[in-house]
Amino acid sequence: MDTPSVERIETVVIGGGQAGLSVGYHLKRHGLPFVILDANPNVGDAWRNRWDSLRLFTPSWLDGLDGMPFPAPRHSFPTKDEMADYLERYAAKFELPVVNGVRVGSLTRNGGRFRIEAGDRRFESDNVVVAMSSWQVPEIPEFASELDPRITQLHSAAYRGPQQLRPGAVLVAGAGNSGAEIALDVVGEHDTMLAGPDTGHVPFRIDGLVGRVGVRIVLRVLFHRVFTVRTPIGRKVRGKMLSKGEPLIRTKPKDLAAAGVARTGRVTGARDGLPVLEDDRVLKVTNVIWSTGFSPGFSWIELPIMEGGYPRHDRGMVPEEPGLYFVGLKYLYAASSATLPGVGRDAARVVDHLAASVSKGRLTTSADMPRLRMAT
Ligand code: FAD
Repeated sequence: MDTPSVERIETVVIGGGQAGLSVGYHLKRHGLPFVILDANPNVGDAWRNRWDSLRLFTPSWLDGLDGMPFPAPRHSFPTKDEMADYLERYAAKFELPVVNGVRVGSLTRNGGRFRIEAGDRRFESDNVVVAMSSWQVPEIPEFASELDPRITQLHSAAYRGPQQLRPGAVLVAGAGNSGAEIALDVVGEHDTMLAGPDTGHVPFRIDGLVGRVGVRIVLRVLFHRVFTVRTPIGRKVRGKMLSKGEPLIRTKPKDLAAAGVARTGRVTGARDGLPVLEDDRVLKVTNVIWSTGFSPGFSWIELPIMEGGYPRHDRGMVPEEPGLYFVGLKYLYAASSATLPGVGRDAARVVDHLAASVSKGRLTTSADMPRLRMAT
């Protein structure tokens, strides 16, 4: 078998969603050579593949990435397909070199360079930007395999609409934003239970007049400027948001009640093939939709920087591995970091650091020196 030839490029960006495109925009602005590798067949697919009725909770005026406003009335809320199409147009407008259909299977370091393996392709680079949200690999509790095979089970990542479900009752497990919105999506056609603790909710309608002011205060001021890793309140909020989940943004508990969604405690296991709640109730359902979150799925990063599945970093920079960066992760810097209104700022900062390191031969920290000497 032929050994694949190695493609050498100064910077490889892994992930071509909004985080990767934002990084690409800023790398282009600095005139640096790079390539963006993305596993999906098309730019925008991460959005396109979400459930059919999904609308963004961020209004259009907050949804544009750096250099290109979102083309819609300021206070409208785009559909997920409109967002996907916008990202495709963004990549085309700035001629960003996205290579789709390439899933990176391993990232290692070989002397001074990173090695990236993706199927039968091999890349070597001085810099790698891992640009993706923390929502990559669906998480489902282990006891899901003990449920009766006649129960239709889906993760929220695979849910598209009620047409996927069998007749009968639905249990939506996980009462965060996705779970609450999916429960409302199915309750018209199925008896629906939403399981999990109340995570709180924003106290106004995001699409009303009060919402216009409220959205600005919450998303632009609090989430972007106040709740950052640089403020004591921001560090406190970070701990809560990473461990407990976020408040409901669009859906209110009273909307769920009015629609007939029954609230229950957590699902804790399976008995005789049926889901069991923390109060020991057994639920006779024919469908379970797991809205139980995601992990970043970084097992392919074979570098000693991981702790509990997440990289150690300082605002996206990894002092232990000079040249390695992260953008898009939940609360990377601020509560807005994994969202459209926040990703551009993180991308700009990381790329400014990368560009400065390139122009200085990356002798930016004393920790770099032994590594660079070894590599020569
Ligand atoms: P992703 O969109 O997840 O893109 C990552 C890309 O990396 C994907 O294309 C994937 O194919 C690729 N990839 C992953 N692993 C590899 C690999 N090993 N090799 C190569 N490529 C790889 N934010 C808002 O601002 N407003 C909203 O209204 C909003 N609604 C949301 C609704 C839902 C249901 C969810 C889950 C999130 C929502 N978000 C919202 C948060 C965030 O904006 C989105 O999750 C957004 O898709 C994150 O973009 P990203 O580029 O960081 O990551």
